[in-house]
Amino acid sequence: MQNFKSNLPKNITAETEAKTEISKSSSLPNDSEDTDAKPFVFKQKAVNRHYEPTTQPTKVFALGGLEEIGKNTYVVEYGNEIIIIDAGVKFPDASLLGVSAVIPDYSYLKENQHKIKALFITHGHEDHIGGIQYLVKDVHIPVIYAPELGAALIRDRLKEAKLQDKTVVKDYKADDRWRSSNLKVSFAALNHSIPDAFGILIETPNGNIFTTGDYKFDWTPLGHYTEINKLAAIGDAGVELLLADSTNAEVEGYTPGEKGIIDNIDKLFLKAPGRIFITTFASNVHRIQYIIEAAHKNGRKIVILGRSIERIIKIIRQMGHLKISEKEFIKPIDVQKYKPNEVIVLTTGSQGEPMAALSRIANNRHPQINIQPTDTVIFSSSPIPGNKADVENLVNRLTRVGAKVIENSPQHKIHTSGHASQEEQKLLFTLLRPNYFLPMHGEFRMLKKHIETGESVNLEKGHGFLLANGDQLELLGGKAKVGKRVEAEAVYIDGKDATAQASNVIRERDILSRDGLMAVVVSIDSQTNKLLSAPKIISRGSFYVRESANIIAESINIVTNTVLEILNSPKPTFGAIKQGIKSSLSPYIFNTKRRNPLIIPVILNKKSDVSNDTQNRNNNGNTSNNGNNGNNNNNNDRSTNSSTNNKPTSSATRTKGTSGEGKANNSAKSTSSNKNQTTTKKSKDTLTSKPLAIR
Ligand SMILES: [Zn+2]
Ligand SMILES: [Zn+2]
Repeated sequence: MQNFKSNLPKNITAETEAKTEISKSSSLPNDSEDTDAKPFVFKQKAVNRHYEPTTQPTKVFALGGLEEIGKNTYVVEYGNEIIIIDAGVKFPDASLLGVSAVIPDYSYLKENQHKIKALFITHGHEDHIGGIQYLVKDVHIPVIYAPELGAALIRDRLKEAKLQDKTVVKDYKADDRWRSSNLKVSFAALNHSIPDAFGILIETPNGNIFTTGDYKFDWTPLGHYTEINKLAAIGDAGVELLLADSTNAEVEGYTPGEKGIIDNIDKLFLKAPGRIFITTFASNVHRIQYIIEAAHKNGRKIVILGRSIERIIKIIRQMGHLKISEKEFIKPIDVQKYKPNEVIVLTTGSQGEPMAALSRIANNRHPQINIQPTDTVIFSSSPIPGNKADVENLVNRLTRVGAKVIENSPQHKIHTSGHASQEEQKLLFTLLRPNYFLPMHGEFRMLKKHIETGESVNLEKGHGFLLANGDQLELLGGKAKVGKRVEAEAVYIDGKDATAQASNVIRERDILSRDGLMAVVVSIDSQTNKLLSAPKIISRGSFYVRESANIIAESINIVTNTVLEILNSPKPTFGAIKQGIKSSLSPYIFNTKRRNPLIIPVILNKKSDVSNDTQNRNNNGNTSNNGNNGNNNNNNDRSTNSSTNNKPTSSATRTKGTSGEGKANNSAKSTSSNKNQTTTKKSKDTLTSKPLAIR
């Protein structure tokens, strides 16, 4: 055996040398030299793609998920049938003031809801299921098919939003199949950072479409194995269009496996002398599960901090995936009852989010837990690019208090991505050999790189499509082309309001944060159509009034002329006055100050109280502003200060759900909607006049 092994390479070398000798010495014609140059190329089985005779294209498009990471929502349409893959949400960055979530515009689905057969979910992450509660409110979705864990998470969320009657949520398993008149759906398990992650195959008359959802190839996974046999079979049967996860398209090599990460965390647990704090993404369900098991194995009681982690633990326990008794989990207040080396705290806040538990602890603002010098804080995470500074800040604060902080590094490999890197993406192309490719789940540069990776394997040049949300890709008889666009703008959710009004509010907050606000108070008598006094201009966050006396004077002039002109017109209305003030003042301010402040005309009308009350009732919802503005009239200086002080500043800072936002809303919303909260406590009796309308 030994001899044979050592002889083999030698023989081969000898043979190769001999061959080289021959080709060098002989003067064979060119073509036979060519055959010699590619000795290892053999004919591989061709892909035989199958198309049915049809004149109708299969349309594929994203309502969310292209040129972004978040709100994944993909649509496959053939004839009068639509299926949707995933319905995700995106969490806003700091530029979206006060926005709690971003979802796609569902108007295409609403208009075509009679065609919708089902929504299929690849896995239970928020960027794939978080939009469902908004989607089902608007659009009739007859049934949602989701893998077991995803389905449990969706049911939990729908129940919380009291929407469980709006649709039916069914589990699917790896070998389930679904079909409608023209479309067939089946599944292939892939690896990801959450159990139950599937790629979905959609067979259509114009060829098969495979979408990966989020995936990586992990050969020592913590959960199920990738069904690589299925992927190979799907490739053999012919893939017309591949949609694949581009998150790590720019990352070379392979994504390290989860098992090694958990082993390393386990070793750190053994070394920690005192309490352990560990933070990770709530989305990394596998890791949370194994961290808890490792903690339990090391004889530590577990404290959970953070709603998102609590929720996931509740669900995996209900499903029987976490067989650890209730009494191993303790409340934060009971930490004192145990020795430091008997406690582990699993917490949110790995991104340095100021409101998350870990930041509060580091800042000594947590009611029950603070950091002690013997504590070890483990970041089983990596900072998302925009959060780097926040995370560094947090690490500094923790270190200053004396904690030992361990972050993911080449020495301590305690985090890995849930997404495939370039070599895994190449493997996917090798297995599936798609005719066309639509990279998804990534920023523009990632999508672009992903096409290059595909082309380096087997994707034909020109067969990769760089599309934006709303661009339709039409497949017909083996050809793909870009068709019409559908509406796919982002919709901002402000609190519970998911209407276009919320988008207006965001736009106004944006203006406020950049260019400030100008309130124009005009006092008129609507019975005699007279202007009662010179208009007042209040500027906040736009420019400094004292240094701009001439601008204010000219603004007053402009407003006076505009209002007089409208009052003297045959049919003056409040709407016309408001509009007139805005459209005459706005260009002047822009020309002189290069600013576009939010202009809020406030009309105070001195008219008999009886008719005012009727007006007030008609203008339902404006009461709080009425109260304020009535007060303005009484005691102009003081009350304008109090009513405007909180406006530009509070809307510029991103205070979600605080009173600051409520006030900012009042000012911002009054220009766009009548949905103001009625917060007035002022007695109307003290008002000598009441405004009719506020704009
Ligand atoms: Zn995911
Ligand atoms: Zn995702």
